[in-house]
Amino acid sequence: MIGVAILGSTGSVGEHTLDVIARHPDRFRVVALGANRNAAKLAEQAVRFQAPYAALADANAAAQLERELRARGAATQVIAGAQALADVACLADVDCVMAAIVGAAGLRSTLAAAHAGKRLLLANKESLVMAGPLLMSAVHESGATLLPIDSEHNAVFQCLPRNSAPGIAPPGVRRILLTASGGPFLDTDSARLAHVTPDEACAHPNWVMGRKISVDSATLMNKGLEFIEACLLFGVPPERVEVLIHRESIVHSLVEYIDGSVLAQLGAPDMRTPIAHALAWPERVTSGVQSLDLIKVGTLRFEAPDLRRFPALGLAQEAARQGGSRPASLNAANEVAVAAFLEGELNFAQIPAVIESVMATTSGGDIRDLDDVLAADAEARSRAAAFIRPHAVHA
Ligand code: NDP
Repeated sequence: MIGVAILGSTGSVGEHTLDVIARHPDRFRVVALGANRNAAKLAEQAVRFQAPYAALADANAAAQLERELRARGAATQVIAGAQALADVACLADVDCVMAAIVGAAGLRSTLAAAHAGKRLLLANKESLVMAGPLLMSAVHESGATLLPIDSEHNAVFQCLPRNSAPGIAPPGVRRILLTASGGPFLDTDSARLAHVTPDEACAHPNWVMGRKISVDSATLMNKGLEFIEACLLFGVPPERVEVLIHRESIVHSLVEYIDGSVLAQLGAPDMRTPIAHALAWPERVTSGVQSLDLIKVGTLRFEAPDLRRFPALGLAQEAARQGGSRPASLNAANEVAVAAFLEGELNFAQIPAVIESVMATTSGGDIRDLDDVLAADAEARSRAAAFIRPHAVHA
């Protein structure tokens, strides 16, 4: 029995994880669930999976969760506050942590799971982008197992030799080819991009995801964050990672070897495949995902990304080349800009403009400890907010 903690259980990745776990009650046991403030959904999940622990970052919502659980006669222990998520990640009964909180909010609990030597299923790419060197050294020092959940990185992981060490490029790898669906605006002209709505941006053609990552997919910043993530996870320099637009989202990514072999992982676009892969690794379990019908798919297309219409990808690639605290600044600026867009304060085309302005006005520095990460994050957030104020649609 593998004890699992799911941080971000009320979100899209969290729910897909519970879907896979529910198919294998003989193999996985939910020990802890965690989220921000969705007490109603967390209560329902805790009762259904008989979770011994449930954590909410928001203390008021935690009080509501406590009431809901007692009303249902559940024995689940409620833990409240920002530190609660990191605490449940480190419980002795927890073997495996699904890090599926969205954004920088997931940083502390992801780092805590790495330091505690858990099997870390990493969906929260933002924590790796912000604190890559810290997270990778925590994994090395504690002996934690790091398994990527992003479908692209999970695909690369599956195409690498079995005992590849995290952060170290296996011999013989020439390039990593990351695929991107291109999002809902792949064929939208630049002029129209300024007028697209948050709902249009969140209507992804192939994947159903949370709103922040959906907007990131629409700007191609998601691929930019994944570009940085790939360099860190697989120990390859930026010049050996290439992004390919692949509209069908069937080839999840590829690895090219020095002998010319190119290995790819294919499958229906459904997050339950990488989640099941990482939960059961190195074994395989069923995930509920339908078989891939390649005859029905028919054609697989690949194109170069258009960095002129989608400058966020280029900004992220530049941050990957610069390293240090630059990716943390990029991530923070992006989070502030995306939140402003979702609130109707910025138009879609202004998202990369905010990031570009923040990157142009912050100098960067080394990441030696968590304080360096948090300082870069705070500075970029305040510069992004200062840039947005005069440009805000409602101003
Ligand atoms: P969602 O928006 O669907 O869910 C976010 C989750 O994070 C919710 O459980 C939410 O809790 C929780 N959360 C938000 N803020 C906090 C906080 N301050 N403290 C604790 N918990 C918090 O996001 P997704 O599931 O789409 O994405 C999660 C992560 O996985 C992201 O990093 C994303 O980039 C990555 N990812 C997602 C994929 C997908 O298919 N969705 C694919 C690959 C990666 P509450 O409900 O209470 O607000």
